Amino acid sequence: MSVSFRLKSFRPAVFLSAILLFLCFVSGACGQPSKDARVSRTSFFLNTVVTITLYGTDDDSLIEECFSLCRDYEAALSRTMEGSEIYNLNHRNTDTVSSETLALINTGLSYSALSGGAFDLTIGSCSSLWDFTGENLTVPEPAALSEALTHVGYEKLSVKGNQISFSDDQTMLDLGAIAKGYIADRIKDFLVENQVASATIDLGGNILCVGSKPDGSDFNIGIQKPFDPQGTPMLTVPVSGWSVVTSGIYERSFEKDGQFYHHILNPATGYPCDNNLLSVTVLSEHSTDGDALSTSCFSLGLTDGMALIDSLEDVYAIFITDDYEIHYSKGLPEHFPVTLYD
Ligand code: ADP
Ligand code: MG
Repeated sequence: MSVSFRLKSFRPAVFLSAILLFLCFVSGACGQPSKDARVSRTSFFLNTVVTITLYGTDDDSLIEECFSLCRDYEAALSRTMEGSEIYNLNHRNTDTVSSETLALINTGLSYSALSGGAFDLTIGSCSSLWDFTGENLTVPEPAALSEALTHVGYEKLSVKGNQISFSDDQTMLDLGAIAKGYIADRIKDFLVENQVASATIDLGGNILCVGSKPDGSDFNIGIQKPFDPQGTPMLTVPVSGWSVVTSGIYERSFEKDGQFYHHILNPATGYPCDNNLLSVTVLSEHSTDGDALSTSCFSLGLTDGMALIDSLEDVYAIFITDDYEIHYSKGLPEHFPVTLYD
């Protein structure tokens, strides 16, 4: 009797649904990702490794669209890619640019003026003579470099509407020192428009955070120990929503005939900046500013670069000198309690 009662009340469909529901709950396969979920993908654009990580999700479909943005911006802003807006401008195939490229050129002009020309977006005639990345690592002929130097100078550039004109026919633009920051900002806009609340955008050490970690805590961004072969961090800074951009001499560099050369050029000489800095990291809300300022400060050197940062609101910096001393701008340790490593 009791057996028949049990058999009557046993409903296989309900039982199976309950098991499935339990399995979904345990594995997070019902569209509800676990709280530690994240997706990360890496690709190569702008001569650099690009990694985008979305937190609190296991859906990576937006990342491919971020990579498409990188591809499109690179095709517009690259100095070397034939047919890009900057290439066409530099080769005088056109004098008109899109509104977005115009905005970036204007930002580049502002930082050129702000840094007194230590950052100069017209460094193109000099930077094109160097090769820090290819197989033919090149030190230019001194005569060619001094000739190229005569075409550098942001005051040779004027902007009227979407038209760009140069007072010197051989002046060339190079947006390499701000393009990655700008692209990171545009990727962040895209992710935020698509309801992403927690992400990191890493364009070759140019890092921009979207929000904080899913549990509300800060991201810990590592600042590399210069020349460390393992890329070990020397310190980490806790940030939410902000950008952390480093300009260092250890990534795009080479040695020839006992001489060390790196890719941040002094617009007064055309040669790599020769000061006691190994890297400058700038913390700012927008990555375009951080990218422009990290290059500007590197070129200005410790004293003038620090003075520039301290004169600006809501921007902080960490300078590492060749004795591996860490120098903080005013207020940095209070706003961003760093963790130091040996
Ligand atoms: P990274 O490209 O490693 O992030 P930066 O943001 O400092 O480093 O940019 C360096 C690039 O900017 C160089 O490869 C070159 O294209 C360009 N550049 C070099 N020196 C200067 C300068 N003084 N002002 C403006 N752009 C520069
Ligand atoms: Mg830069």
